[in-house]
Amino acid sequence: MKKRELETRLIHGFFDRKSQHGSLTHPLYQTSTFVFDSAEQGEARFAGEEDGYMYSRLGNPTTAEFEKKMADLEEGEEGVAFASGMGAVSAVLMHLLKTGDHVLVSEGVYGCTFGFLEMANEKFQIDFDLMQMDSGEAIQHMIRPETKVIYVETPINPTMKLVDLEMVIRTAKKNNLKVVVDNTFCSPYLQQPLKMGADYVIHSATKYISGHGDVIAGAAVGPAEEMQKIRMTTQKDVGAVLGPFDAWLLLRGLKTLAVRMDRHCDNAKIIFEKLKKHSRIHNIIYPGDPDFSGHLLAGRQMNNYGGLISFEVEGGKKAAQRFMNGLKVVQTAVSLGDAESLIQHPATMTHSVVPEEQRKKMGITDSLVRLSVGLESPEDIWEDIEQSLEKTFAEEKV
Ligand SMILES: *Cc1c(COP(=O)(O)O)cnc(C)c1O
Repeated sequence: MKKRELETRLIHGFFDRKSQHGSLTHPLYQTSTFVFDSAEQGEARFAGEEDGYMYSRLGNPTTAEFEKKMADLEEGEEGVAFASGMGAVSAVLMHLLKTGDHVLVSEGVYGCTFGFLEMANEKFQIDFDLMQMDSGEAIQHMIRPETKVIYVETPINPTMKLVDLEMVIRTAKKNNLKVVVDNTFCSPYLQQPLKMGADYVIHSATKYISGHGDVIAGAAVGPAEEMQKIRMTTQKDVGAVLGPFDAWLLLRGLKTLAVRMDRHCDNAKIIFEKLKKHSRIHNIIYPGDPDFSGHLLAGRQMNNYGGLISFEVEGGKKAAQRFMNGLKVVQTAVSLGDAESLIQHPATMTHSVVPEEQRKKMGITDSLVRLSVGLESPEDIWEDIEQSLEKTFAEEKV
């Protein structure tokens, strides 16, 4: 049978409707444990001789449905769900690395991923280097005998710098290294790293996968044998397990991923065009901008340009904050990928722990704000931005 298109696979699940009273939607098994028919059955399940659920930290049918869906969407062998994106990041890295190993990391990775690597370095002597992954030669130069993993985020937050996944994967394969990609910013609708040859994909499902700002969740997809090991070690024994209700909300959110992503991308394009014409807005960073350094690469490895735009508001931190405070439709909050447009100030929020000098080097100035363009009418989003800019600079004159 022909593999159904992603839009269809997002909606239809794997569970058997007949055995679930014909329920249209996936059932919610809000239970911590599962009753055995007999002591012998419990013994057989724990011995791995019989399939079946035992305890929801080890597996739950609703969570399993979400895991299957994530694996299917990323076109990987097996998915594991986590209590947060960081649960997924830490579980995969802990599985792949041990004391003495080294990992290469694309510069600008998510702050808590950096925090985890620092902790792993301090406590377990796992070494890492942050680097601009601009060429195969640059990466090759940083590879040591102890290097085991290349960890990539693309596009990078909030500077939208893209990393050429094909190039990274080619270099990694040559050196027998595993490639892990944090695909949060794109979702499988815009980018599918496993299809390009990456080994593991990680998501903060809190963002576009959920899409409704009501869940903290994570997922990882990779080779079945390895994901099974993760499930039984850095998942089960460390314990960042996703709850069944959160999995249920994610399955609900996923049904509309395609239509949501299309609208996020369309709205972002409209807002970008408007921002470009505004005299008080500078250095707009958006992969859909033909002048953006990563524009051609985005066209190659992404299906569209995403819903995020970073830009500078003239006048530094005070002006940026006045602008944010004047917004009414757009909400000031970290996170992204929700129906609501969200704006944040990286220098004092998501990247406040990054030393100022490095922040500047990355292009995160005090004037920079990051907008996650939501699903509202683009006219309303723009009117909101415009009225707040007007107020911001009217106040300046008095
Ligand atoms: C939010 C985010 C994370 C962490 O996910 P949580 O669900 O907040 O734990 C990791 N990577 C990226 C790119 C993110 O945006």
